[in-house]
Amino acid sequence: MSTPNDRCPEPLLSVEGLTVVRRDNPQVRIVDDVSFTIGKGETVGLAGESGCGKTTTALAVLGLLPSGLRRSSGELTLHGPSGDRPLHRLRAAQWRQVRWASISMIFQGAMNALDPVKSVGQQIAEAIRLHEPMAGRSQVARRVTDLLDQVGVPSGRAGHFPHEFSGGQKQRVMIALALACRPALVIGDEPTTALDVITQAQILELLGQLRRDLGLSMLLITHDLSVLADTCDRVAVMYAGQIVETGPVAQVYRQPQHPYTARLLDLFGADDTPGTLPTPIPGAQPAPDRRPSGCRFHDRCEYATERCAAEPPELLTAGTDQQARCHFAPWPGSGPGRLAPSDDRQGSRSSHD
Ligand code: SF4
Repeated sequence: MSTPNDRCPEPLLSVEGLTVVRRDNPQVRIVDDVSFTIGKGETVGLAGESGCGKTTTALAVLGLLPSGLRRSSGELTLHGPSGDRPLHRLRAAQWRQVRWASISMIFQGAMNALDPVKSVGQQIAEAIRLHEPMAGRSQVARRVTDLLDQVGVPSGRAGHFPHEFSGGQKQRVMIALALACRPALVIGDEPTTALDVITQAQILELLGQLRRDLGLSMLLITHDLSVLADTCDRVAVMYAGQIVETGPVAQVYRQPQHPYTARLLDLFGADDTPGTLPTPIPGAQPAPDRRPSGCRFHDRCEYATERCAAEPPELLTAGTDQQARCHFAPWPGSGPGRLAPSDDRQGSRSSHD
């Protein structure tokens, strides 16, 4: 089992050895032995290319896996004032007490996630009534107004329909929906992907503000590492179903210890000189049923050796609070991509280079 990076505040959610497989072929692991912890008031980023398993991980945390997938092993524990709650043991009917009341989600694609034939106020009120059936009509109406105010949408627009809002406003409504039942943990699945950069910055600022004001914990999922820099305390990078690097966000960004993280950072960050396009990572992430032997990244890695093609690396300590799934971690200097590979590593490169 991968080792969780547990240096975090008092834990709110612990995920230990989560594995999700296809029902029709349990040999195919969509999420493979993933462990992480989210502390109270902490924001953790889950990053990686599309198809790496990050959204499936989030759906497993919410008990919302698609019908073709199932959790084959792993424990999910929600820690609260009244004790620990093992989410992996919940029956379908019990999930309702947890979803939205303790953990909610801002789903991908605000443009399509709202019901087009109901006003946004109706949709938020429905979420409240579903989980708090005893709440009175005026109480619910007041909560809807407060929630819209909180996310910066004029409360007078509660009666408007989704098509009357801009993309950024719709995303704010989605955030209000996620907050409707005062959850302790909000999962944001690519919450800014479809937005222009200015609106993206505004939504990230709003999420940061809500986190500070409400003491929320957050799990932010994205393929864009630059989104996480200012919003997260810690980051976990996923590749081909596994966590390949985890650690405090500033440390991982300054000294990545996995070549994949280093290449992602190069893609999303550093050189904004006009006319300079980032160099893409060669090849493509393998499909879950076609993962290579050894290190799953070896056929795309510029530092791969024969050992990498033969032996799967463990998630190893690679600095204070930092771990990387690479045979050569910790890397000397400032990490892979920031230094020339050593002579012996170059000399033993595999034919995949
Ligand atoms: Fe690259 Fe080898 Fe490290 Fe995998 S184990 S990331 S192939 S150097």
